[in-house]
Amino acid sequence: MSSEPIPVQTTPAPAPVLKTHTAACHCGDVKVKVNVDLSATGRCNCTVCVKKRSWNARVAIEEFTLVAGADACSVYTLSGAALHHFCKRCGVSVYSKCNIPTIGEFYTVSVNCLDGLTADELAAIPIRYSDGLNNNWWNPPTVTCYL
Ligand SMILES: [Zn+2]
Ligand SMILES: [Zn+2]
Repeated sequence: MSSEPIPVQTTPAPAPVLKTHTAACHCGDVKVKVNVDLSATGRCNCTVCVKKRSWNARVAIEEFTLVAGADACSVYTLSGAALHHFCKRCGVSVYSKCNIPTIGEFYTVSVNCLDGLTADELAAIPIRYSDGLNNNWWNPPTVTCYL
């Protein structure tokens, strides 16, 4: 008789609360509209995120609209898993398109590019830290204060 792992009972994750936000680069050439759950944002210590000081929220493919800037963006990618789109004029990265085998295709939007959020609203957004540098994406690195 094979021994099946016993499912661990976990508290179900709260249903995502999608809210519509617009986001833009600094000069305004690149604009997006997203329906996004800001209760699940992330920062990461991988070699790309640490240089950009990325703070991203995941956006489902069908919840992302590029409003302006299809020709205004350039794209940087390290491995092809994430295409980091940034404005050719001002250099700000508004979004990335990702394709991770275990997750599928999705977008991320830069939380700092979202329009109209107050400092208090930004400060209240929860952040999950990923130890991407050590390919340990589902756990936080030991030190996070610089991310
Ligand atoms: Zn720009
Ligand atoms: Zn990263």
